[in-house]
Amino acid sequence: MYSNFINFVRGIYNTSNFIPLHEPRFIGNEKKYLNECIDSTFVSSVGKFVDLFEKNIAKYTGSKYAIACVNGTAALHIALILSGVKQNDEVITQPLTFIATANAISYTRAKPLFIDVDKDTLGLSPEKLDKFLKNNTYVAKDGCHNLDSGKIIKACIPMHTFGHPARIDEIKVICDKYHIELIEDAAESLGSYYKGQHTGTFGKLGTLSFNGNKTITTGGGGMILTNDKKLAKLAKHLTTQAKVPHKWEYVHDFIGYNYRLPNINAALGVAQLEQLPKFIENKRTLANKYKSFFEDNDIKFISEPKNSKSNYWLNAVLLKNRDERDKFLKFTNENGIMTRPVWELMNKLEMFKNCQVENIENAKWLADRIVNVPSSVIV
Ligand SMILES: *Cc1c(COP(=O)(O)O)cnc(C)c1O
Repeated sequence: MYSNFINFVRGIYNTSNFIPLHEPRFIGNEKKYLNECIDSTFVSSVGKFVDLFEKNIAKYTGSKYAIACVNGTAALHIALILSGVKQNDEVITQPLTFIATANAISYTRAKPLFIDVDKDTLGLSPEKLDKFLKNNTYVAKDGCHNLDSGKIIKACIPMHTFGHPARIDEIKVICDKYHIELIEDAAESLGSYYKGQHTGTFGKLGTLSFNGNKTITTGGGGMILTNDKKLAKLAKHLTTQAKVPHKWEYVHDFIGYNYRLPNINAALGVAQLEQLPKFIENKRTLANKYKSFFEDNDIKFISEPKNSKSNYWLNAVLLKNRDERDKFLKFTNENGIMTRPVWELMNKLEMFKNCQVENIENAKWLADRIVNVPSSVIV
C-alpha cells in the first residue's frame, strides 16, 4: 500500500526526484515586478507595491482594510495589541496550531489558554469553547473573568488549520456573548471561505502569512485584515515605528514596531496574488486526486468541512494510529516523498506547559494520526 502511494505521488508530480511538502511557484509577473521595483530604487520602506498589494488583498478577501506586515507572526502581535491584550491577560487558542500563534500571545506578556479542536474542521471547537466559558468564567464590566486563574480572558484566536475553515460564525457568537475579542489566524487559509465569506474577515481582526511555504509568498510577509477604519489606521501606525506624519520632523507617539513589509516583497506579492485563483483551482484538483486515491483505504483523507470551501493549502491524511503514522512517515521520507506529522501540541512544549489546558481529547487523537502529504501547485 505505502509503495502504491509513492508511485501515485510520483505520477502526479511527474518526477523521480525528491518531492517536497510545499514549494512556491513563480510563473507569472514576479520577475517583471521585481525588476520594476529595483529599477525604481524603492525597494524598502516606501513604494507603490505595498499600497497596491494591500489594496488587492482587501479586494480579494472582501475586507475593508488590509495592512501589510513583515510576517504573519508580527501581524498577529499587532492584532493582539489592537485588541487590548496586555500583561496578565489570557488569550484562548487551540493546542493544535503552529507555534507563531502561541508566541505572538506571549509577546504581549499574556498567557495562552488551550481549548480543544473539532475532528472534522481541525479548528477550535465552538461546543468546547462555550462549555468552558459557561463553567469557568463570569462576565463583569471589565471583561470575562477566568474563575480558575482570576485573570481576564481578553481575546480568542481560532486558526483555520491547513486552510480548512473552523466553524467561525458560531465561535464569533460565543466570543461576543462573553465579551472576548475575536482574532482569526488565517495564515494558512488565504483563498478559503466559510459560508461564502473569506476566512479572516469574521472577527474584529484577522491575519495572513506570505511565508515561503504558504499558498502565495512574498519571501516573508503578513497582512492584518479589518473592517474598522480606526484599527486599520492604528495598525499602520504601530507597524511603522509610530511616527507622526510630518515632512521632515521625526516625532513618535507610541512604542512602535518596525514591522513594515518592504516594497520589494510587496512586488512579489502583487504578482503572486494574480496567480492565486489559478493556484487554488490547481490545489483543489490535487486534493480531489488524493481523495479518490484514499477512498476505501485504511488511510483517511481529510476533506474540507461542511459549509466551506478550502484552499487545501496542505493536504492531510489520518493514519490508523501513532505507530502506523510513524511507519508511513519513515517509509515516505526514506523514499524521497516529504511528509510531516502535525506540530507538537502547544501545551506539551516547555514554554507553555504551565498554561491552562482543557480536555483536549480531539487534538491528542489528531496529533497521533495526522500526516501532511506533498501539496505544491502542479506545473
Ligand atoms: C505560517 C503561520 C503563521 C505566521 O507565520 P510567519 O512565518 O510569521 O509569516 C501564523 N500562524 C500559523 C498557524 C501559521 O501557519
